Amino acid sequence: AFMLEVFGIHKHYDHPSGKVQVLKGIDLKVNSGDVVAIVGPSGAGKSTLLHIMGGLDRPAEGQVRFDDEDLYRLNENKRAQVRNQKFGFIFQFYHLLPEFTALENVILPALVEKNADLDAVKAKAVKLLDKVGLSQRYEHKPHELSGGEQQRVAIARALINEPKVIFCDEPTGNLDSESGKGVIDLLMELNQKNKQTLVIVTHDESIAKRSHRVVPMRDGKLQ
Ligand code: ADP
Repeated sequence: AFMLEVFGIHKHYDHPSGKVQVLKGIDLKVNSGDVVAIVGPSGAGKSTLLHIMGGLDRPAEGQVRFDDEDLYRLNENKRAQVRNQKFGFIFQFYHLLPEFTALENVILPALVEKNADLDAVKAKAVKLLDKVGLSQRYEHKPHELSGGEQQRVAIARALINEPKVIFCDEPTGNLDSESGKGVIDLLMELNQKNKQTLVIVTHDESIAKRSHRVVPMRDGKLQ
């Protein structure tokens, strides 16, 4: 069976100016260890689909199955648990907590789990920050870091619970080409070394080129 399967997804928004049909019947299967790039014009519905696949946004119709469970039939707590334990998220604008240091940002998703061992979690977070090249930045807050550094903190944070799937929404969208390449290299290495599955929404040709599969999307449908 596929690790992640999407069937018949529909999504709309009720806007004062009228109903906006954003996803019009999406089917997609992702194997464990895949690198899937979802590409297409702005407004195609890519981010909405990624959020739905990641258990962040309920579809109007259809199913998202992960490890043979229907994500949106789980209760909110269970779904939050799947998101925290099995999924990692990387966004274009990093979404780090501004009041916390790099190290604290990386630690937090692990502390959500009951019985977390703070010393062990800290040691792991340090290792991850070292891995993404931020050994000199543990105590820096997001505003004291460059965009590329913030994104590397976000990657370390996404990895702290050893997720099976990493969902990335324009991970290089706000970076210069050199930092962008660093981020792509890191993501591909995670896939190759740890067999972590990547689902990436991107405009970045160089990500698409290095993906196993490119899924073009247009006007709420896969092509
Ligand atoms: P993409 O990631 O491909 O650029 P999105 O998934 O972000 O596309 O958005 C798809 C469409 O959904 C866009 O036309 C956008 O205007 C619309 N949309 C997104 N969020 C909302 C919302 N909260 N209310 C109304 N329309 C929305």
